[in-house]
Amino acid sequence: MTKRLTILGATGSIGQQTLDVVARHPDRYEVFALTASTRWELMAPLCLSVRPRYVAMSDEAAAEQLRNHLRQAGSEVEVLGGNSALAFLAAHEEVDTVVAAIVGAAGVRPTLAAVEAGKRVLLANKEALVVTGALFMDAVKRHKATLLPLDSEHNAIFQCLPAEGVNEGVERLLLTASGGPFRELDAEALKQVTPAQAVKHPNWDMGPKISVDSATLMNKGLEFIEACWLFDVPVDKVDVVVHPQSVIHSMVAYRDGSVLAQMGTPDMRTPIACGLSWPERVESGAQRLDFSALTGLHFEAPDLQRFPCLRLAREAMEAGGTATAVLNAANEEAVAAFLDGRLGFTGIPDVVERTLQRQDAPACQDVESVMNVDRQAREVACRLIEERGC
Ligand code: NAD
Ligand code: MG
Repeated sequence: MTKRLTILGATGSIGQQTLDVVARHPDRYEVFALTASTRWELMAPLCLSVRPRYVAMSDEAAAEQLRNHLRQAGSEVEVLGGNSALAFLAAHEEVDTVVAAIVGAAGVRPTLAAVEAGKRVLLANKEALVVTGALFMDAVKRHKATLLPLDSEHNAIFQCLPAEGVNEGVERLLLTASGGPFRELDAEALKQVTPAQAVKHPNWDMGPKISVDSATLMNKGLEFIEACWLFDVPVDKVDVVVHPQSVIHSMVAYRDGSVLAQMGTPDMRTPIACGLSWPERVESGAQRLDFSALTGLHFEAPDLQRFPCLRLAREAMEAGGTATAVLNAANEEAVAAFLDGRLGFTGIPDVVERTLQRQDAPACQDVESVMNVDRQAREVACRLIEERGC
């Protein structure tokens, strides 16, 4: 039986790597729909090679340009425009599996639409879960969706856990972190970091936003929150271990002293293939781990003084309500400002911390209210960025 897929965020790093895995198994997977935001010129060649039934651009003008381009190229792909088109394709009755690979809170609504339609949802878009937390997990249960993590750490933990998930035998979840490109820089040097340096990750090839998050350790903070929700564990059951080689992708420690680790080369096609085929296994295209060439694996504790984002994320999770939505919104604005030269690297945690201090974070019963908090937090963060400057 072929599975029909909608890929949200198809032009991005995860989207393209998903297409790479899918292309290896034409007998198993059929691409029903692809979506992206504004970069129609990246989407056009995907439409011609993958030939999905539908494509949607959240930006209407980009959709129009893509439509014209594809018409001239003689393609029959149907082009839709606007945010509601993304949700429509995520929830479409002909779709079995939705790959949620939009970056940021922009992915909340289409990802939730897939969950509410009871799809098999492969989650890369960690921000969607960080922002909506309990509402997201309740919707998964209520609509009997199947949620499988694509984030390499959570996919690793998922593979190391018992089939039913965390039980009394599980003592701790150990999230590994590469430590990012600036692990060894001192506090002074961190102030001088440029966007070009921050988007170059030593082990992974990723989109610009998550690359900056990896450099500040906010990525690990978001993943810490993601782990608490996905595996239904309290904050004190999750530890972060810095492991610069990214060979162990995360671990589960058991009551009897056993520690199970999932290992592999750092290639997102492994967790993507795992999510697509689970509980079976298929070829991913990833290079195999060569134990004869592996030199010492190194482990250390994260430095929360130089990298305060991890502490801020943990505190936001402990605070509850919509604090994690505020944290995420402020971080998205601060990272965008850093990438276009309006904020220094060490300004990112500073803006996030001060936004958390200024913005109320009440518990919310619906997504609309959460997105209101997200909007307010962005306004606060943008004001702080303007006042602060570089
Ligand atoms: P990316 O920047 O390469 O791609 C982002 C995709 O999202 C693009 O297709 C873009 O068109 C789409 N998008 C952006 N804004 C949008 C909007 N407003 N509306 C609709 N679509 C929008 O990002 P990425 O590196 O592929 O990361 C995607 C998600 O996966 C992020 O949440 C990231 O944290 C997570 N993730 C990525 C990696 C990785 O290796 N790249 C690993 C683990 C988790
Ligand atoms: Mg990760």
